[in-house]
Amino acid sequence: TAETVADLAAKEQRRADQAGRAAGVQGFVGYEAYRAAGGYALATALANGSKSDESVLAAMESSGLRGLGGAGFPAGRKWRIVRGYAAPRLMAINIDEGEPGTFKDRHYLERDPHRFLEGMLVAAKVVGIDAVYIYLRDEYHDCRVMLEAELARLRRDPPCALPHIELRRGAGAYICGEESAMIESIEGRRGEPRLRPPYIAEVGLFGRPTLEHNFETLYWVRDIVDKGPDWFAGQGRHGRKGLRSFSVSGRVKDPGVKLAPAGITLRELVAEYCGGMPDGHELYAYLPGGASGGILPASLADLPLDFDTLQPHGCFIGSAAIIVLSQHDRARDAALSMMRFFASESCGQCTPCRVGTDKAAHLMEASQWDNATLEDLSTVMADASICGLGQAAPNPVRCVQKYFPHEIA
Ligand code: SF4
Repeated sequence: TAETVADLAAKEQRRADQAGRAAGVQGFVGYEAYRAAGGYALATALANGSKSDESVLAAMESSGLRGLGGAGFPAGRKWRIVRGYAAPRLMAINIDEGEPGTFKDRHYLERDPHRFLEGMLVAAKVVGIDAVYIYLRDEYHDCRVMLEAELARLRRDPPCALPHIELRRGAGAYICGEESAMIESIEGRRGEPRLRPPYIAEVGLFGRPTLEHNFETLYWVRDIVDKGPDWFAGQGRHGRKGLRSFSVSGRVKDPGVKLAPAGITLRELVAEYCGGMPDGHELYAYLPGGASGGILPASLADLPLDFDTLQPHGCFIGSAAIIVLSQHDRARDAALSMMRFFASESCGQCTPCRVGTDKAAHLMEASQWDNATLEDLSTVMADASICGLGQAAPNPVRCVQKYFPHEIA
C-alpha cells in the first residue's frame, strides 16, 4: 500500500540518518539536498541532449584523470575503449577499499554519495552501459545502509533514465579489490584473479565488455565536466597534474584524508596538511602506497608523490595511502607486517605467491636476513605471479634491503 511504501521510506531515512550519525559524519548531503544544490544537472543535460556524450568524453580525456584505485589507467581513454566494444556493456564499481592505510573512498561516500552516483550515471550514459554493479566492502556496514537508502531515493525520483543498478557486498577478501577477482566475486564465484588477456574492457563481467572504476575516479567526474578539464589538470605541483586524496596515517599530528595537489612531496604534505610530526618524533620513513607501494627513507621525502614518479625508487603511490614512520619505528617491522598480510590474503591460486609470501615472512622474522634467499623469492614472486598482489609483495622487502640495511645486518 501507499502507507507501507511511505513507512518504508521513512524507515530508510531513519536508518540512513542513524548510519550517518554512527559514522560521525558532519554535513552529510542526502538526495534532496544534493538536488536542491543543483545536483544531477549534468546527468540531466546528457539525458536530454543539451550536452553531448562526446563533449564529456573529451573533457575527461583532456583532464588527465587517472584511475584512483591504484592502477592509474587514464579514465577517459578507458571510457572510449569500452564504448568501442559491442553492447550490452556493463560497469563494475570497486568500493572494496582493502589496501591497508586507505580510507579515502569511505570518507567521501559517507559525506557526498550523490556526487559519486552522478559520476556513475554520467559514465554509464557516455559509455552506453546497461547495468551497473557496485561492489562495496562489507566492513562498511553503515555506508551500505546509507547507500541503499540513497539509491532508493534516486529510483523514486530519477533525474534521468537509470541503468539497472545493483549494490553487492564484498566479504572481506583483500584480493577482491583486484578488478578481475572482484568480477569473479560479483558473478558468485571465489574471488580469484583472471589471467589476461582478454582484458575486462573486452571480456569482463558475465563475459561482456566492462567499464571498471574505483569509487573516487567517478566521484570527480561531475566537477571535471562542470569546472572544465583545465581546472583539474591545473591543480598539480612540481610539474604534475590533478588532485590526489591522500589517506594519511601514522606519526603525524593530524591524520586523515587530505585533498592535495598531485606531485606534492611527503615533506610538504606532512607540514602543510597534517600539522607536522608529533612532539618527540622525527621523520624516519614512509610508505607511499599502502602495503604494496614499498617503503622510502626520510632522505627521499622530497620526491613528487604521483603515478610514475616513485618507480625508479622501487615504489609506487597506488591508492595514495601514506603511512608515516618516525625514529621510534623500524622499517623491517612494517615490511614483516605487510608480508604476513600478503601471505594471509593470497588467494592461493599460483605457487610463487602462495608459497613465496609465507616463506618470505618466515625468513624476515630472523634478526639477520638471508638476503640471497629473499632476493630469489622476490624475483620469482615478481616475475611469475598472476596478479599484482604477488608481483608487488617483494616491494617492502627490497626497500628494506636497499634503504635500511642497518636494520637487518
Ligand atoms: Fe592469487 Fe597471489 Fe596468484 Fe594473485 S599472485 S592470483 S593473489 S596467488
